[in-house]
Parts: sequence; C-alpha cells; structure tokens
Amino acid sequence: MTLAYIGLGANLGEAQDSLKQAAAELARVPGISALTLSPFYGSAPVDSSGPDYVNAVATIETTLDARTLLAALQKIELDHGRLRPYRNAPRTLDLDLLLYGDQEIDEPELTVPHPRMHQRAFVLKPLADLAPTLRLRQGSLAELLEACSGQRLEQI
Ligand code: ADP
Ligand code: MG
Repeated sequence: MTLAYIGLGANLGEAQDSLKQAAAELARVPGISALTLSPFYGSAPVDSSGPDYVNAVATIETTLDARTLLAALQKIELDHGRLRPYRNAPRTLDLDLLLYGDQEIDEPELTVPHPRMHQRAFVLKPLADLAPTLRLRQGSLAELLEACSGQRLEQI
C-alpha cells in the first residue's frame, strides 16, 4: 500500500463541482482507498489563462503502481471533457500525481515528485492542511509557502 498525493484543479465550468465529482470518482477506482480531500482554494492562473482556478489536494492509499495511477487520473480528466488544445490551456479538470510514497520517477510522461509543486501556493497550502509536517526535497511546506507568499490564494 502506497500513500499518494493528488493535485486537483479546474478553471472552466462549475469548477468546484468538477473537483468534488473527480474526488468521488477517484475514491471508487479499484485499488484506491482512504481518500481524504483538503479544503478548496481559489487561485489566480499561474502560467495559464482564463478564470480563477479552484484547487485542492487529496491523499489516497493505493495498490496501483504510479503509472497505472496516472492512467486512472487521465481517464477521469477525459471523462470530464478535458481537452489539451495547447500547453497550460484553461481546463475543466487537471489531476496531477504530486507524490507517490517516497518514489522518484523521472520520465517525460511521469515525473514524481511533481517538478513544479514546490513553487505553487495552490498545491502547498492544501498539502499543508493534510500533512503539516511533510517535507519536500526543497524544504518544509512552511518555508516553501513563505517563498510564494506573493501568489493570491483564498480558501473558499
Ligand atoms: P500540467 O498539469 O503540467 O499543467 P498537463 O496536465 O497537460 O499539464 O500534463 C501534461 C503531461 O504531463 C501529461 O501528458 C503527463 O504524462 C505528464 N506528467 C508528467 N509528470 C506528471 C505528474 N506527476 N502528474 C501528472 N502528469 C504528469
Ligand atoms: Mg496535469
């Protein structure tokens, strides 16, 4: 059983409903159990465009390997009508594998820990809600959050 962290985000349509539905769908995937969802946050798009994002983080326990888990996340994205017209386009649903136990994977299709998570308040804050004492390679969540204090983020 591996403890994994999933980042959820959306900025088109009923974004908060999409995240709730996606979390419910994730919890039903065979091989995934014990899903815990953080509070929801609103954030301005970073490296992206369109309306504000709604973001959250979920912890799960899983017997799936990391690649199979990513495939399950991508299927849920597709079921929500996710299109990829261009890089960082607005999206109905984005599910990222942030951490998979303490495993490090460095492939284009799957990089874990997620390579940009330590710079993003909308990941770090909900992560800190779920796992306040967690440390990333780059530092403690408190230190990393301090470094992105310029990013607008509000709990919703
Ligand atoms: P982003 O989430 O960075 O805005 P996308 O959701 O469009 O971008 O993902 C682009 C690609 O990133 C996917 O095809 C996926 O294979 C790859 N990828 C690499 N590492 C990860 C990860 N940790 N979680 C999710 N996708 C990843
Ligand atoms: Mg993604």
